[in-house]
This record gives sequence, structure tokens and C-alpha cells, in this order.
Amino acid sequence: MTARTAHPTRPPPACEVGATLLELRDVKVGYGGITALKGVSLEVRRGEIVALVGANGAGKTTLLRTVLRLPGTQVSGSLRFDGKDLLALATEDVTALGIALVPEGRGVFPNLTVRENLDLGAWGHRDRRAMEESTHDVVTLFPRLGERMKQDAGTLSGGEQQMLAIGRALMARPAMLLLDEPSLGIAPKLVTSIFAAIRAIAAGGVTVLVVEQNTKVALSSSGRAYVVRTGELAREGASAELLADPQIQAAYLGG
Ligand code: ATP
Repeated sequence: MTARTAHPTRPPPACEVGATLLELRDVKVGYGGITALKGVSLEVRRGEIVALVGANGAGKTTLLRTVLRLPGTQVSGSLRFDGKDLLALATEDVTALGIALVPEGRGVFPNLTVRENLDLGAWGHRDRRAMEESTHDVVTLFPRLGERMKQDAGTLSGGEQQMLAIGRALMARPAMLLLDEPSLGIAPKLVTSIFAAIRAIAAGGVTVLVVEQNTKVALSSSGRAYVVRTGELAREGASAELLADPQIQAAYLGG
């Protein structure tokens, strides 16, 4: 298991690329009486960027919350990460395996500085040198954050806060990053640079599962994608093929 050795700017050993890292089989998720996922199966291989797209309320956030084992849901089916059964684990054990979530709305601490937010992400890597290395890598990826280390996170623009949220998740040196709607509420130019950063993160060996309502940017930036509709997978395949598909264009791309 290589969680925490993966790194945004250093390539992984070639032999690891391609093995299944996250695997869901027939996963059903309910919130009390509401069934949000009705039997979803998907996999994400090491080093991939996989997009999960679909309309409002389709169940995308629920899927990410389920992987993280966040409370409040009833789950059945099989959820495995690097062969380990996630259903048997609590959230802190899942994060300790090397899965990091960048939540919708970013979740940065507005009254803490950029540096303090980043330091909080480095839990479990308290030794100074590792933290400095991680901070250096994040700042290399997002130079804007380096210019704003002493600024309160609440005074950053939406795009900068998204960079900070991603940077904070990377501070824990995850093997896999789950991103929930990174484009939400962000100016189009910054969306482009955030997705360029996501591609750089994956090129550095961190596997990515990204949830997006912005289907065009998600399919343009990922290798494979799943389309979820009212709790079920409607389509799956190579992102480039889905992007060119007339049905997908009509349903999700305003085509
Ligand atoms: P969005 O893009 O709007 O966030 P989504 O695809 O991420 O949508 P989810 O947030 O996963 O969708 O919601 C899926 C379904 O589960 C919806 O019908 C939603 O109302 C329901 N749901 C989500 N969270 C809860 C909750 N805490 N309690 C009850 N129902 C919930």
C-alpha cells in the first residue's frame, strides 16, 4: 500500500499504474426513507482521473460521503480501497488509508490563515520536514497560495479557496483525492487552472475521483467517466467518447 508516498509532483513507480484502487459493487445508500444510490458499481484505477457527472440530486455527493464512511447513511454492497473493506472502517481509518476529500463548498477555516489551514491538513505528518516538503509542493502547484500564506482564508476569492481546499487535502499526502464540485461558484478562468492542477496532481501519482455538474470541464479533464442519474449509473466509458456522444451532449452539454 503506497498511501502517503504518492506525491503531486513526483511520478509513481510505473508498475503501480493501472491496478484497481477503489472498487464499488452494487452499492445502495439510504438516508432514512430516501434511497440516494440504488446499486452503483464503479472502479477507479491507480493514477486515473475518473469523473462522476450528473444532474442535481443524482447522488454524486452521497457516493463520495459513502466512500469516506461519513455518518448518517445506511449502506449495503461492497466498497473496497486497495483491497480493504471500507464498510468495516470508520472515517478516520479511511483517511488513514490515504483517501482525502475536498468537500463541496471547500470547508476552509475562514478565520485561519492560508498557512494555518494547510498545517491542519498535515495531520499525521507532524514532523517539520515532511510538513515543509508538503507545503512546498502545494505552493509549487498553486503559487497564488504562496503569495497569500499570512492572509485569512475567508478573504480569498472563491477560486483561491478551492486551491486552498485542494492544497490542504494534499498536505496529508493521500493516495486518492475525492473532489466534490471543484468548479462550483468559480470564475471560468480559474476553473481552467483548477482542472489543470487536478491533471498535474494525477500526473504526480495521486488517483482522482471528481464529482462535477460542469460536465464539459469534467469530461475534458478526465480519462473515464460515469454518468449518474437518480441514484443509478446511466452511462460509463472513456470521457472523450462521452463528450462526443450526441445523447450526452443533448442531456448534459446543452447540445
Ligand atoms: P448536488 O449536485 O445537488 O449536490 P448530488 O448528485 O451530489 O447533487 P446528493 O447530494 O448525493 O446528490 O443527493 C442525492 C439524494 O439524496 C437527493 O435526493 C437528496 O435530497 C438526498 N439526500 C442527500 N443528503 C441527504 C440527507 N442528509 N438526508 C436526506 N436525504 C438526503
